[in-house]
Amino acid sequence: MKKIGILTSGGDAPGMNAAIWAAVKRARSYDMTVLGVQDGYRGLLERRVEDLTNRDLSDIMHRGGTFLGTARCLEMLTEEGRSRAVHNIHDYGIEGLIVIGGDGSFRGAEILSERGVPTVGLPGTIDNDLAYTDYSIGFDTACNTAIGEIMKIKDTMTSHDRVAVIEVMGRHCGDIALTVSLAVAADYVLLPEVSYETEYDIDNLSHFLLNIKKQGRDSSLIIMAEGVNWNEKNRAEILMNRLTERTGLDIRATVLGHTQRGGPPSAFDSRIAILMGVRAVELLKEGMGNRVVGIIENRIVDINIKQALDMPPRFNEELYGMARMLSLS
Ligand code: ADP
Repeated sequence: MKKIGILTSGGDAPGMNAAIWAAVKRARSYDMTVLGVQDGYRGLLERRVEDLTNRDLSDIMHRGGTFLGTARCLEMLTEEGRSRAVHNIHDYGIEGLIVIGGDGSFRGAEILSERGVPTVGLPGTIDNDLAYTDYSIGFDTACNTAIGEIMKIKDTMTSHDRVAVIEVMGRHCGDIALTVSLAVAADYVLLPEVSYETEYDIDNLSHFLLNIKKQGRDSSLIIMAEGVNWNEKNRAEILMNRLTERTGLDIRATVLGHTQRGGPPSAFDSRIAILMGVRAVELLKEGMGNRVVGIIENRIVDINIKQALDMPPRFNEELYGMARMLSLS
């Protein structure tokens, strides 16, 4: 294999640039040419590519986001779009493709593999919602960013004897909310895996807050994932209003939002991004396509794309149980 392509697709995640940097370096060591495709599958269809082979990416690899850009591309859901993607790949002489993104991006990668383009996926999503890997690139950074912001909110909430309701990202997967709630010693955590729609128990939560107050603590902290009551707009505010009505406590809602997607990758995210970028190129070099790379029990692994996508969502019941136990003790 002499020429490979690389693209980032779906939501951006800190560490994507580090993965690209590592892949380009590894490819260079094999004398491979690397073409960077701009804006995900859209750039592939619109023929927007740049030669990365001799580009010095060392100043970019520490930055959050993705310098290649990312965009939605609904044409990839159509036969015409998929055929054009394959045509352009062949036309550029690309013999293997690395796709960094989430499950949607992997579905695109699977289609390309089925059509004869060896394709390797790297998990780039802050949500950590890919069941086949313990961690995805960007998750750790997003947690650290959220923790930093929440600690600031906690300071002022404590000064004013207020209750904070803080919404963090995670539409289908509550991993950010759960990890962060442990790290900031939150009093209550609401996860999509546990509290879909309006099933969280508002009375129970109200009693819980009043109990905390009865025990002499006026300030408390509730973390909710955005996937809880996903269909409602202003979810955190609605929860704040419902709790205020029931408890009379002074409650404030904050939505952390896109701050969680940006910033330089943490050491952990840089490390896994680099290891995964290197593995992706090595797989293509060995002629292995139709794979996704992940990390399981601290080892970099690769598995079949379909197998990865077919895995049922995982939920760390044990960690959730521990968070509940610690908050109730
Ligand atoms: P993520 O990769 O973060 O899950 P999306 O679900 O938005 O993000 O998917 C990113 C892109 O992947 C889409 O804009 C589309 O171009 C491509 N994609 C998603 N699903 C498919 C599919 N079933 N077939 C082909 N391409 C897909």
